[in-house]
Amino acid sequence: MPVRYYDWIVHHCRRTPDKIALVDLASGRRFNYAQLDARVSQLAGHLRDQLKVSAGDRVAVLALNTTDTLEVQFACFRIGAIFLPLNTRLTVPELHYITGDASPVVMIHDDDLAETALAVAKLCNVASTLRLGPGGSYEAGIASARPVERFEEVTLDDISTIMYTSGTTGQPKGAIITHGMTFWNCVNLGGPAYISPSSVLLTVLPLFHTGGLNCYTNPVLHSGGTVLIMRVFDPAEALRLISDPAQRINVFFGVPSIYQFMAQHAAFATSDFSRLIVGGVGGAPMPVPLLKTWEARGVALQQGYGMTETSPAVMVLDREDAARKAGSSGKPVLHTEVRIVRPDGTDAAVDELGELWVKGPNITPGYWNRPDANASSFTDGWLRTGDATRMDAEGFYYIVDRWKDMYISGGENVYPAEVESVLHQLAAVAEAAVIGIPNEQWGEVGMAVIAVKPGHSLSPAEIHTHCQANLARFKCPRLIEFIDALPRNATGKIHKPTLRQRFSQPKPTDTAA
Ligand code: ATP
Ligand code: MG
Repeated sequence: MPVRYYDWIVHHCRRTPDKIALVDLASGRRFNYAQLDARVSQLAGHLRDQLKVSAGDRVAVLALNTTDTLEVQFACFRIGAIFLPLNTRLTVPELHYITGDASPVVMIHDDDLAETALAVAKLCNVASTLRLGPGGSYEAGIASARPVERFEEVTLDDISTIMYTSGTTGQPKGAIITHGMTFWNCVNLGGPAYISPSSVLLTVLPLFHTGGLNCYTNPVLHSGGTVLIMRVFDPAEALRLISDPAQRINVFFGVPSIYQFMAQHAAFATSDFSRLIVGGVGGAPMPVPLLKTWEARGVALQQGYGMTETSPAVMVLDREDAARKAGSSGKPVLHTEVRIVRPDGTDAAVDELGELWVKGPNITPGYWNRPDANASSFTDGWLRTGDATRMDAEGFYYIVDRWKDMYISGGENVYPAEVESVLHQLAAVAEAAVIGIPNEQWGEVGMAVIAVKPGHSLSPAEIHTHCQANLARFKCPRLIEFIDALPRNATGKIHKPTLRQRFSQPKPTDTAA
């Protein structure tokens, strides 16, 4: 029999009504569980009774981080509607691609994105729009509605959310997220990420991304903890808040670039991280030198691996192993099975690279409207991640890189993430990305695209010397380009398709090769 979805906010409202659930740092608004529950019920009433949103309809949100986005999520859950968080960095045509695919009936937006949201809503004939903020139609709707008292019958198998992937490798795909997937992610992350009612999380990643929403915003709310929402990531402000004893922040999550920006800030050296129980990192390869920089400040960053499609945790490195196994993404979470598979479909041996396949109740049943991607991404119920991975003799997993980013130079496979980690050992390197470039002699050769830290200098010869001392010859990038800042997608991940496009012209192998 399908298991019913049970509303966490109602639950915590009964147990700890006065406890602060959400803090909106930009506006200073604070909501305890009772207030959050009341607003969610009113909003659900407004959506259902006044805007005629039915079970299964999509409700889109286009807004910089705000607690309102989470109210929309929970209101959708109460009426069986599907929550559709939209990427705020996309242009009108890019958003049109997504909304054309998911066809929302309501578009909720903030002031900053009003023009974009209204243009997209018009293109897709979205029935209603709601504007967030003081005096906006969102607050008026909440104030005028009758609260929803009887919730829609929703099971863990029903769709809760459509979340588009980051678009790091191509067009974003709408991953179908069920209530069960989110529930199991909360269960799976609870232990290794030490999530509890005492958790106080600072959320800086965008809530339209699985890292912002589910690492660990939803798990902390599921546990009855407190979440502080930062509108847009600001390294100085994040360091200040984490250091401030009055905020009691003990949980933090970021993609590698978030930790890089914080480590580069002048306040890093004097910040107080003593209250931090969890510093989670994932979403992209994490350079080991950066892990060491944080370790030197007493923070054992816990690397994890996940995807939008796995909602997202698949593996987490325990805090106790963080220093000893720096570079590993740890071991699989409780209810998730993993395999490392050779191209012929058999299981790879210890230390042998293969493609990571995953299975479990937190894995998507498929992509929205994408039979092609569904056919190519699943085999016998396993999701093929496209990530090159190996497991060591102690059962720790290492995400080496995306298969698609691997290039072959002179017949040898090169995984850019390994080369990037070596480049990050150079103190002057702020950002580094390596891509394969077509080359007549070698098939492909590596190109390092490097952003140098302000006030530092770095010559190609220094880079070549460092690489030759630390990497096999075929892995050493033969071409070097300097750039002010690497192109990144909205999640902060390096966007290699842009780099390939910009530097894809075959060039003669340079003299240092
Ligand atoms: P798209 O699927 O649209 O190309 P994306 O894969 O970047 O975008 P996400 O779902 O946000 O979208 O990211 C999941 C991917 O992030 C994984 O498949 C993996 O390549 C990468 N990733 C996640 N965690 C790690 C990690 N700890 N180390 C290395 N890579 C990671
Ligand atoms: Mg992906």
